[in-house]
Amino acid sequence: MAEEKTEVEVLCEKLLINKKHSANFVDEAEFAKAMDYAEDYKKFLNDNKTEREVAGFVVAEAEKNGFVPFDKFRKYAPGDKVYYLNRNKAVILAVMGKKSVGEGVRIAAAHIDSPRLDLKPNPLYESNELALFKTRYYGGIKKYQWTAIPMSLHGVVILRDGTEVEVSVGEKEGEPQFVISDLLPHLSKEQDKRNLEGGITGEELNVIVGSLPFKADKGSELVKLNVLRLLNEKYGMTEEDFLTAELEIVPAAKVTDIGFDRSMLGGYGHDDRVCAYPEFTAILGLDEAPDYTAVAVLADKEETGSDGNTGLNSSYLKYFIADLARAEGLMAHDVLSKSKCLSADVNAAFDPTFPTPFEARNSSYLNKGIVVTKYTGGRGKGGTSDASAEFVGEVTRIFNNANVNWQMGELGAVDAGGGGTVAKYIANLDVDVIDVGVPVLSMHSPFELIAKLDVYMAHKAFSAFFKA
Ligand code: MN
Ligand code: MN
Repeated sequence: MAEEKTEVEVLCEKLLINKKHSANFVDEAEFAKAMDYAEDYKKFLNDNKTEREVAGFVVAEAEKNGFVPFDKFRKYAPGDKVYYLNRNKAVILAVMGKKSVGEGVRIAAAHIDSPRLDLKPNPLYESNELALFKTRYYGGIKKYQWTAIPMSLHGVVILRDGTEVEVSVGEKEGEPQFVISDLLPHLSKEQDKRNLEGGITGEELNVIVGSLPFKADKGSELVKLNVLRLLNEKYGMTEEDFLTAELEIVPAAKVTDIGFDRSMLGGYGHDDRVCAYPEFTAILGLDEAPDYTAVAVLADKEETGSDGNTGLNSSYLKYFIADLARAEGLMAHDVLSKSKCLSADVNAAFDPTFPTPFEARNSSYLNKGIVVTKYTGGRGKGGTSDASAEFVGEVTRIFNNANVNWQMGELGAVDAGGGGTVAKYIANLDVDVIDVGVPVLSMHSPFELIAKLDVYMAHKAFSAFFKA
């Protein structure tokens, strides 16, 4: 017979917050399901390293699952599935609900761009018989982390005649890769005096791409010429075509299980594909028409501040909603003012090695489920959308009712720094918005770390939200 609980135990259970490790939250069958889900996510992350690649994957998979290109002049029926591809870099998917859009829609918005190194318009040069690419970093990175690791090259080149050529080098077995050099410790006496921020400067992020000269009796810069010859053979491009290209250098390492217990995944681009992927699988999983129209936004340009026509500070989401509204004779604001949104982005998990910038009571932790973040920003809540108590209550009730393990977390201690997401841009459209996402260690590094149970909980959370 079980011992009776003491008065203290009863009171503690009744009154104290008790956030569990997700391993103690799911049963064996669901744990196995979560591990399987992580395998699918792993493949997605390995196969899609740029916003264009993610957008291409999403559209192809969506089409296989019955989604069709959105026709803004058509009136859709409940259960109809549509997608809108914005300039090959951002996607909106929707499943039409049973209710009028005038009662609001359910939006989840993640981003599919990740920090990386973009090639400059004139990238290729030769120095001391090495060929190199000049880069400009994209998003917030700690530059010293991006040296002496294998890199791959992804993107598109628009040739003189307008042909678009896709480039991907360094991902497939046997393909060459690229690298940024760093000084050996023996000779870095001067470099060692720099602070961490300046340890490697932006103009030192030069990628080594060749060292063999084109065989000739005479001529200069023959290593560069040889690289151009190879690029011309493979892609039909000349040096001038770099000017009309978008080429991105990203870490080449594959996603891998981390830990003896294989509970985590290390890899490039978890921010924010660890939210984009579950958001996508959640909308794909809507077998029948939801009550409210479900809208999954996969945005670009979050890492550079959401500006530009593929970022969420532009109007394409608003226009999409306006088109949905028009089909029912409504205005965009009739829909937006009643809509609800999960801004789906990663949060910084508490790091036991670097506890100082965190406040332990209000941090998120690996394996404790999806993080709900009431406000982001910095300092005195500067530059944030602060979700109302009512909306926090509503969203967390949805999670509780669907057995989603969730935790509440801030982005770091007060005045330790800060950051933002797309939440404020959507909130500024008069939508109720809250940040939710997966906790990440080593965020924005070439090898970010997440827990498998957390990405699974994110899938459950988005599914529950779309169905609520
Ligand atoms: Mn992010
Ligand atoms: Mn980020």
